[in-house]
Order: sequence, then structure tokens, then C-alpha cells
Amino acid sequence: MVGRPNLPQLDVLTALIREALDNGWLSNQGPLLRRLEHELGAVLGAAHVIAVVNATTAIQLVAKACELAGEVVVPSFTFPATAQAFTWIGLTPVFADIELNSATVTAATVEPLITDRTSAICAVATWGNVGPLEELSALASDYGIPLILDSAQALGVTYHGRQVGTFGTAEVISLHATKIVSACEGGLVVTNDDAIAERVRAMRSFGTNPSGKFTTVGTNAKMHEISAAMALAVLPSLGPVIAANRRKHTLYREYLTGVSGVVVREPSDGTASNYHYVVIEVDSAVAGIGRDELCERLAARNIHTKPYFAPGCHALEPYRTESAIHSPKPLPNTESLAARVLCLPTGPAVTDTDVASVAHTIASIVALAGRAA
Ligand SMILES: *Cc1c(COP(=O)(O)O)cnc(C)c1O
Repeated sequence: MVGRPNLPQLDVLTALIREALDNGWLSNQGPLLRRLEHELGAVLGAAHVIAVVNATTAIQLVAKACELAGEVVVPSFTFPATAQAFTWIGLTPVFADIELNSATVTAATVEPLITDRTSAICAVATWGNVGPLEELSALASDYGIPLILDSAQALGVTYHGRQVGTFGTAEVISLHATKIVSACEGGLVVTNDDAIAERVRAMRSFGTNPSGKFTTVGTNAKMHEISAAMALAVLPSLGPVIAANRRKHTLYREYLTGVSGVVVREPSDGTASNYHYVVIEVDSAVAGIGRDELCERLAARNIHTKPYFAPGCHALEPYRTESAIHSPKPLPNTESLAARVLCLPTGPAVTDTDVASVAHTIASIVALAGRAA
């Protein structure tokens, strides 16, 4: 998404907030949080949905629940939170390259990085594209390590007909304001593994078990009731927003067909996307203009786009300086894609007319650049 958040109907939100205030129950696994977990469990078809403060902390809770140590193989082509979440709790992210069609890691890019220090694989559902999960799952089980999925961007996505949330050892979904369903700040741990779920539930609340006894060391990752109210109020829009996003994606593709050097990316094989991101690739040699310059010229016309994800995490500190540890193998696809991609405005606040106008502006900037060349 580049644009405005998916906002709830105000009367629905205020009714839920009133409920929380009337209950006098504002946090600590209150009724709204439990309703949210229940409703999302039904949407995702998952045994356990655990709502927490944000997806970054959710990754850390999963890592702790899986007792990870040493290294975790992660893509460099992701939002830095994926890598930072592990670094912050003393783990070492080791960056794998991506395959270009899905922009996700594959067994072929991950396996060369697995050593006896590797304790998990963390794959990212880039722009909602689910990668080749069958081969990643097989690889993880060959090495006896968990497969953790950062599906922060992927609520509402299905992979071969099955909802994201139920793959791998555990998945993490974000409910941040910029995501398709928002709790303002929020995240989910989703898993079918009872033991992992029990540990995550304990750790989100100071290591307490359901009867309130302190059984392990945890943290405070509890989602409060007003956040749960926000997510509950937004959740019914998920289906309609996906349908509207999909139409905007189609419109962008139609309008931008024939613009030289600009291609609208499609969801990868097997993925039914939430179309939360419309991503173009700019081939500067053909377009006559580079991605960064296109982004700047659009900004000058008050059209806000985002090079996302650029650069790859391996090019950011501290990973860049410590490249011998974090990127032992070259990352050619990450580097080339990070230089080409641009996310266009979409989402509920962007109208079909806006889409036409953004596409038209891109077309005229590229035409002008072509004439100048
Ligand atoms: C948004 C995002 C995160 C972080 O989610 P928060 O809920 O803001 O902590 C992590 N990974 C990816 C891929 C994201 O897009």
C-alpha cells in the first residue's frame, strides 16, 4: 500500500470502544481481543491465532518459543524488521537471495547458507506473494529446523486455495496501520502447533499460564482492547478491499501496457493475492529513466510512490559492515530487483480516477524521457 490506511466505519468502531469502556476491561486478554482471535481463526482456518502488539515482536515470540539460537536464514529483500527482530534478541540473520518471479527465497537460495549454526529458516511473503512453500518446508524438515513465515503483508492471501497463516511452523501477520487490516499497531502469531501456541501465549504476558502462574520468562506483548476494537471494526472490509484492490491492479496493468520499460508485477504462481501492493518494475535502459528519478518526478506532481524494498537489508547497517557474517553468498537478484521496483498508490482511499491519473502521469514522464534520450 502507498496511500491512506484502511479505516473502519466510525460508528462500528465507537460501539466497540464503548463496549470496552463499559466492560472496564482494557487489556490482558479481554473480550474484544478474544473475539478478534476467534474471528481471525475462522477466516484463516488456523488452530491458534494469538494477537500481540506488532509483527516485529510476534517474530521474536515465535523465535523464543522455538528456542532458536545462532543463525536464521532470511531474505535480504524484505522490510528491515524481519532481520532486526532476530538481531535484537541475539540471533544472526544470514541473507538469502530471492527468485525473481515471486521475489521470495527458495530452497535453492536457502540451502547453500545452512550450516550447523542454522536454527531456522524465515521466509517472507513479499507483497503478499507466497514463495515455494512445499520445497521450503521439505528443506526445513530435512535439516530438522523450523520454517517461520513473515506473512506480515499477506492477510487474506491464499496459496493453492489455503489461507496464509497455516503454513510452516508458525506465521506472523502484521496489523500495522499501513497493512490491509489495521489495529493501528498490532500483530498476529498464527500456528497449528499446540505447543508453540502455548509458549507464545505465555510469553506475550510475562510468562504466565492460563491460570496466571508465572511459568517461564516472557515479555509484555499484549494487544489492548482499543487496538482489538480497531481490528474488529476493519476486519469485515477485508473481502471487499481485496476485490477493489484487484480491480485497481487490473486497471494499472491495462493503462500501463505499452509504456516502454514499465511492467506491472503479477502475483506469483499459486498465490491468490490481496493486491495490497501494486508494484511496477522500471527498466531504465528501456524506459529512458531510472526508478529513483521516476519516483522523484511523480513526487513533484504530488504522487507518492515508494521503492519498496530498497535497498536490501544486507546493504543496511550493521549488516553491511559485517557482510562476511550476514551475506556470505552474493545476492544478485536482490540487488537487481531492489533497483527496479516501485510501489504505486492503491487501497480503499485511491479511486479508479486516481489510478488513471497516476498511470497517465507515469506514461507521460516516460514518453518525455524517451524523447529526451
Ligand atoms: C510491516 C512488516 C513488518 C513489521 O510489522 P509491524 O507490525 O509493524 O511490526 C515485518 N515484516 C514485513 C515483511 C512487513 O511488511
